[in-house]
Amino acid sequence: MTTLVNKMRTRGIVSLVGAGPGDPELITVRGRDRLAAADVVIYDDLAGRALLDYCQAGCKCVYVGKRCGQHSVTQDRIIELLLTHTRAGRRVVRLKGGDPFIFGRGGEELMALIREGMPCEIIPGVTAAAAAGAAAGVPLTHREYSSAIVFVTGHENPGKPEATIDWAAYARLRATLCIYMGARKLAGIAEQLTDGGLAIDTPVAIVSRASRPDQEVKLLTLADLIHGAGREIAMPALAIIGEVAHVPALARELAASVASA
Ligand code: SAH
Repeated sequence: MTTLVNKMRTRGIVSLVGAGPGDPELITVRGRDRLAAADVVIYDDLAGRALLDYCQAGCKCVYVGKRCGQHSVTQDRIIELLLTHTRAGRRVVRLKGGDPFIFGRGGEELMALIREGMPCEIIPGVTAAAAAGAAAGVPLTHREYSSAIVFVTGHENPGKPEATIDWAAYARLRATLCIYMGARKLAGIAEQLTDGGLAIDTPVAIVSRASRPDQEVKLLTLADLIHGAGREIAMPALAIIGEVAHVPALARELAASVASA
C-alpha cells in the first residue's frame, strides 16, 4: 500500500484551473481544493492574488504574468516550468484567469503537456463574459432578445495571416456579442458592426474588473462607442453588445413602477 502511495506521489500532475474573474469566491470548489493540495502554483495576472491564500504553507507560487513595464515570461518558459515540476513528481496547478479554455492559451498548454505524456486535468472557471453579465445585470441570453452568444476577441493574434474578424458577419447573427480584449478597439468595432447592419442605438454594456471591488459598469450604445465613449475604460474590460444589454434599463423601469404602485 505504501509503495502504491509513493508511486502515486512520484507521479506529478498538472491541473489547469480556471481562477474565475477575480473575486476569490468565484473559483470552483474543485479548483480551490487543487490549490490547497498543490506543491507548485504557476499563475498570471488575471488570476486574483487572493486565491493564493488557499495554498498550503510551503507551496511554491510562481508568477508568470505581465506586470506593467516588465517582460512577461514566454509561453515556452511556462511550458518548461510545468514540465519540470510535473516530472519531479509534484502536484502542479496552472492557475489561469476566468476559464482556462477561453482565450487563455489553455489549449496550447494542454497540447504541450499531452505531447510530453504528462498527466493533466482541466477544471473550468467562471469566464469574464459570465461575470460581466452578472455584474451589469445583463442576461447573456433572453428568450425575447437573444438566443445565441458569441465570445470573440477584439484583439486577434497579430501573427495570424488571415487576421481579420468579419464583424459584419457577427452583426448579421443578431446574437449577444461578448468582446474580450477589445477595450481599446471598440470605436472601430462599433463602426464595422453598424456597417454590417446593427442599429446605431444597439445597447452596449462595458464592464471593467467584473466581480472585483473596483468593478465599473457603463451602459452605452454603439453610437456612443463610435463617438469615443469607450476611450477611458479601466482594464480588464469586456463589452457585451446586443439587445440584452437593454435589460438593466428595463429592470430599472420595472423596479420604479413596482415601487410607485
Ligand atoms: N480566460 C479568461 C479570458 C482571458 S483574455 C476568461 O475566461 O475570462 C483576457 C480578457 O478577458 C481581458 O482583456 C478582458 O476582456 C476579459 N476579462 C478578464 N477578467 C475580466 C474581468 N474581471 N472583468 C472584465 N473583463 C475581464
